[in-house]
Amino acid sequence: MSEPAHKRLLTDLGRGELAEWCGLRGEAPFRADQIRRWIFGKRVADFEEMHDLSKPLRAALAEDFRLFASEIVRHQIASDRTEKLLLRLEDGSHIECVLMREPDRRTVCLSTQVGCAMGCVFCASGLLGLKRNLSVGEILEQVLRLDRLLGADERITNVVVMGIGEPLANIKSLLPAMETLNEKGGLGLGARRITISSVGLPEKIRELARYGKPFNLAVSLHAPNDELRNRLVPVNERIGIAAILEATDDYFRDTGRRVTFEYVLLGGLNDGVEHARELANLLAGRGAHVNLIPMNAISELPYADPSHARTAAFVDILTEAGIAATVRKRKGADIDAACGQLRLAEEQGSTSSQTTHELSDAVVPNR
Ligand code: SAH
Repeated sequence: MSEPAHKRLLTDLGRGELAEWCGLRGEAPFRADQIRRWIFGKRVADFEEMHDLSKPLRAALAEDFRLFASEIVRHQIASDRTEKLLLRLEDGSHIECVLMREPDRRTVCLSTQVGCAMGCVFCASGLLGLKRNLSVGEILEQVLRLDRLLGADERITNVVVMGIGEPLANIKSLLPAMETLNEKGGLGLGARRITISSVGLPEKIRELARYGKPFNLAVSLHAPNDELRNRLVPVNERIGIAAILEATDDYFRDTGRRVTFEYVLLGGLNDGVEHARELANLLAGRGAHVNLIPMNAISELPYADPSHARTAAFVDILTEAGIAATVRKRKGADIDAACGQLRLAEEQGSTSSQTTHELSDAVVPNR
């Protein structure tokens, strides 16, 4: 049972706000750290489990706050142990989040909006348009839910913001959420283990750089020229590749972090040798890394995945031009793990989607 919606979501408050709330109740500010430790470190499900807090404080917390904002409506586990949750928020909206396992890391993939306004033609997340931004707590909740799927001795090691939505269009909620993931009193995850994937909004990229944390930035380029990018990523008409590259050059200069460019390979559309050469020219001298993503076929959309031969040729051309290129590993192939697909199926009223899909792995290795 979810609690009444009039109560505030506790994870919407940062450390400072929670300390203030404690102060108003005559409690020492360090109680805020204790509370946060229970939530982020000890995986409690209820305020009652916060044993080192007094009974009245626990009661006051329960009176004012909810600990969770969502219900799990679906939980899928793939044969490679990738797990995906479909969460229903209080207003009935659905979001998805994913846990990916590798021997030495556990990566979670988070959503930042309900739907998306960018309109990328090959993506399931934007098919129903944008409904709303997620709150700070709703972004963090995905981490809490996925963390609670792990064994007692397992911890989340990496975060990729590559689920539903355009993270930089919701930078207001994104940054406080990433701050909590990064803070010692939160999840304590190094900024270098957090990757934010964006369609490429130049002013927001600069705002992210000014924030001053060495997050990894991945930009979804998908085409080596504006004519093609306008067709695949319609929002590009208002931006243009040149402005994006100026912003990513600034990001590299200001943060010292190399930018990754994501490039979905759409069979027959943007995966030719001529595209690879043009991309190599565009990125030459930028110290960039290219992450090629084979298209996840979606039954609603008329795009095909590329052949292995074309993918290999594309990689070779980039590599020969001195540009680091990798092909993204597929994860969760048997559970519709690509972002947006489960939500689409749910909101269109079908119980399962017809196709099988894969999910991306972290784009940037630990470094
Ligand atoms: N709005 C952000 C996050 C989107 S999801 C962004 O644009 O980067 C992360 C990546 O998955 C993006 O590069 C996105 O373009 C890509 N993607 C979306 N749909 C896909 C599909 N069907 N197959 C493969 N990659 C896809």
